[in-house]
Amino acid sequence: MPKYYCDYCDTYLTHDSPSVRKTHCQGRKHKENVKIYYQKWMEEQAQNLIDQTTAAFQAGKIAQNPFPNASGPPPRGTMIPPPTNYSGGPGGPPPQPGAPPGPGGPPPPMMGPPPMMMAPPGGP
Ligand SMILES: [Zn+2]
Repeated sequence: MPKYYCDYCDTYLTHDSPSVRKTHCQGRKHKENVKIYYQKWMEEQAQNLIDQTTAAFQAGKIAQNPFPNASGPPPRGTMIPPPTNYSGGPGGPPPQPGAPPGPGGPPPPMMGPPPMMMAPPGGP
């Protein structure tokens, strides 16, 4: 003789027939038990989550501030591009490498070959 076990009510129905189950599932007691069953389940899930989070926190897996860069100045080492409109500080603009010398200045030293470099190393 099969019996129907109701998981929510934690009880057996004396007869396993569709009508008996239907009657049972429509009963106020069963619906109350279903509600309690899922409430307990939800509380268990929430408690599990709390326990896991607490354990992870105690293990040091979660930093005290999970968003260290959310506010405040950037940490040292961050690339900060220099200002592009450099208008000269004290002493005027920086010298430009490769700029031609002004009029009257000395000629650049690399204009001609040195006298001894182009001579043949020895006579025939
Ligand atoms: Zn039930």
